[in-house]
Amino acid sequence: MKQLALILLLFFAIVNSQAQSTGNYTIVIHGGAGTILKKNISPEKEAAYRAKLTEALYVGDSILKNGGICLDAVEQVIHVMEDSPLFNAGKGAVFTHDGHNELDASIMNGSDLNAGAVAGVRDIRNPISAARMVMEKSEHVMLSGTGASSFAKEKGLEIVDPSYFYTQKRWESLKKLQNKKRKPTQNDKHGTVGCVVLDSYGNLAAGTSTGGMTDKKYGRIGDSPIIGAGTYANNKTCAVSCTGHGEYYIRLAFARDISAQMEYLNKTVTEACESEIKKLTDLGGTGGVIAVDKKGNVSMEFNTRGMYRGYIKSNGDSYIRIYDGN
Ligand code: ASP
Repeated sequence: MKQLALILLLFFAIVNSQAQSTGNYTIVIHGGAGTILKKNISPEKEAAYRAKLTEALYVGDSILKNGGICLDAVEQVIHVMEDSPLFNAGKGAVFTHDGHNELDASIMNGSDLNAGAVAGVRDIRNPISAARMVMEKSEHVMLSGTGASSFAKEKGLEIVDPSYFYTQKRWESLKKLQNKKRKPTQNDKHGTVGCVVLDSYGNLAAGTSTGGMTDKKYGRIGDSPIIGAGTYANNKTCAVSCTGHGEYYIRLAFARDISAQMEYLNKTVTEACESEIKKLTDLGGTGGVIAVDKKGNVSMEFNTRGMYRGYIKSNGDSYIRIYDGN
């Protein structure tokens, strides 16, 4: 009897360990959507963007290749983009009307629908890690401003002097806008970074991090730290990260609506993303979205002239694009 129990235990352990890791994973990233035209970007700048997107993807790839989980990949991939001045997140974030950098980020775990977010923080070096801390080490989903900073500090995250986030390019961009030397463009409203992952255990996660919109006022918060608007993940359907004019994404409950269309209407991830982008266009909004489903199908849709985007899969298939079409 004892022997039979042992054999059964062994059998289930083997079946279980096989079910646990498929070896198949997919990582998808975006670095913002907007009026991104080849004629406006120098070859050096384009190469810099491509190199940074590639670096981010490979950081995630090495985590997942070594058996890491989706949340670690999302967090570390986003670190690469937050630490780069090329993107409107972390270092490189845009300035508010009053000349500050106020950062928002969120993360969601598709296996248990747990989620965390921070909004309007000024001194946390990597807001995506603070969002993960909120998810894993607090009883809340979203913390804001100085409270979020105190929490992050208490948990040992890196706090920086707000001047760390200063970049000349973003400062000039704010000043030109404020001195009416130019009209606001889509690019003032976009530039967020995001990552969605299917790991080899079949789990999905999504994360988004941003500086929001240039010249934003009154503590404005966009969609990026709002679960269901800028970020969503559910193992039943997909993981989603958005970039675009946040007010529209909030009103559409954009990310959650993509998941809902898959769950209730049996749409594919691409059909759901396309239909959501159409809703965005009909409402007058602009932007883009990345998503991956539980089978590793990828969707990257946008209604702007470009979106920094890419993916990598466990089978070595990889892709990086910037413009509409290439
Ligand atoms: N969605 C962000 C916001 O509205 C901006 C962006 O995606 O670039 O704050």
